[in-house]
Amino acid sequence: MGLGIFANVNQLLNEEIVFALAEAIGVAIAKEEDEVVEKIQKATSEEDAAKEKLRPPVVTLMGHVDHGKTSLLDSIRSTDVAGREKGFITQHIGAYSVDIPGKGHVTFLDTPGHEAFTAMRARGADVTDIVVLVVAGDDGVMPQTIEAIHHAREAKCPIIVAINKCDLPAANPQQVMSGLQKHDLMPEEWGGKTICVKVSAKTGKGVPELLEMLLLQSEVMELKANPDCPAVGTVVESHLSKGSGPVATVIVRKGTLHHGDMVVAGPYMGRVRVMKNDKGKTLQKAGPAYAVELSGLNGVPEAGEKLYAVEDEKTAKRITEQRMLEIRERQMRGATRHMSLESLYSKISEGIFKELKLIVKGDTQGSVEALAQSLEKLSTDKCRLHVIHGAVGGINESDVMLAAASDALVIGFHVKADPKAMTMAEKEGVDIRFYGIIYDAVEKIRKAMEGILEPELEEVAEGKAQIRQIFKSSKVGTIGGARVVKGRLLRQRNVRLVRNNVVVFEGKFSSLKHFKDDVKEVAEGHECGISLAGFNDLREGDIVETYRIDKIAATL
Ligand code: GDP
Repeated sequence: MGLGIFANVNQLLNEEIVFALAEAIGVAIAKEEDEVVEKIQKATSEEDAAKEKLRPPVVTLMGHVDHGKTSLLDSIRSTDVAGREKGFITQHIGAYSVDIPGKGHVTFLDTPGHEAFTAMRARGADVTDIVVLVVAGDDGVMPQTIEAIHHAREAKCPIIVAINKCDLPAANPQQVMSGLQKHDLMPEEWGGKTICVKVSAKTGKGVPELLEMLLLQSEVMELKANPDCPAVGTVVESHLSKGSGPVATVIVRKGTLHHGDMVVAGPYMGRVRVMKNDKGKTLQKAGPAYAVELSGLNGVPEAGEKLYAVEDEKTAKRITEQRMLEIRERQMRGATRHMSLESLYSKISEGIFKELKLIVKGDTQGSVEALAQSLEKLSTDKCRLHVIHGAVGGINESDVMLAAASDALVIGFHVKADPKAMTMAEKEGVDIRFYGIIYDAVEKIRKAMEGILEPELEEVAEGKAQIRQIFKSSKVGTIGGARVVKGRLLRQRNVRLVRNNVVVFEGKFSSLKHFKDDVKEVAEGHECGISLAGFNDLREGDIVETYRIDKIAATL
């Protein structure tokens, strides 16, 4: 309770809380690691440094709807010479690699948009190295462009801008660039750092330049991976195929995945039976940053799940059994909670927490800005407040995903969350707060930071009785003969007396009797004698209600 968590005795707690609790009561606990995977990673990470080689970048396209993401992905794909090898037909497997003759490769994720990008991040899978922000030259920076910028920035992903639709006479790259500048993306042309490439997905003009810029950026980033170790990959797509059973598209992160490798992905395992690339070509092996579709797993792993090549079947079984167990535990425990205001103070005081990330959605640009500024001003030495995304509009799924991926709080000012976003917030354990007054929002967060959120009190109704007859006693005063019409009356509880919907008394019982006996409680349907402490004016027809006060976790 001191940690602000009101758990019952049967509740499973998450790891973070268990560790915090153990420390608070002076108990040492150690976590048994997923030892096999741990061992693989450790062994390889020691070798890694020496054996690392440059690898292709993995790129995601983002931008406002209809600005041409899908068209650009298609256009990029059609530039691929290898893709036109005879006999092979383009397969949509979730990602594809483009060969740039004499220069290298670039892998593109086939699902554009910041929602998909952040959904992967929320599952702990950061596969994207570079974001291509697609902005239509005839439309400029739009709300989802800004969302995309915030999502990419939060993931610390460099952004390269593709100013699309430059074939249109209405295209105005200068205007796009000035729009970008307002969001801290200063174009290189204007002395900034943001690479902007003018392209046309329709004619293909500028696409080769865009690919070159991606390779250049990747060189600057020195993206490297060791190709000579057991493969580690990330599942980007998966489904159950009628012919081949579970099929998963995996981007290899390091090592080399071979046909016939024993692999583990989430709670599933199997030997890689068939491995194909996006051209439908069967492969014997795949190195870092390449995407392959593989079959052979005994179940469909979720997107975002890591895939490991392991030594043998025995090892794979051990890992998957442990994973199954963990999944069951997790289900029993419910969603792991992300950042919440209740836990803010304890996190700040433990020193493990330096920054509170916020997503602010409001009804007007002015209110969003005002609230964001006031909140950021609350920053102290111990905790910086940082609004990672602020925009006009209701709270949507993409906001909740961003919050889950970045451990942020979501604040709605004069706006509601759509039902899908609410469901997702519940599932992901994301804290959403609604306010109608800026002062309230700022004040609550200030208090949460200082650890002075008062727990809220909640009244829980328990019993209701109606007085049917009045008796006078010289010893105890007025006694009401009553019948319990709902719930039960408990002697120790708070009582209120209601007459014609008006509360005429609040206090305690002075006595509660069943026939001649003093009793602790009277159940529904039974008769009892009631007298109230310090109140004698009982009347026929009065309603006696009992209630208890529960302390619930502080809410805002
Ligand atoms: P997305 O929603 O960002 O994936 O956008 P789409 O790729 O579906 O494109 C939206 C519309 O813009 C479609 O009608 C495309 O044909 C059109 N479009 C996309 N790129 C270009 C381009 O470079 N030039 C022209 N003229 N139209 C384009």
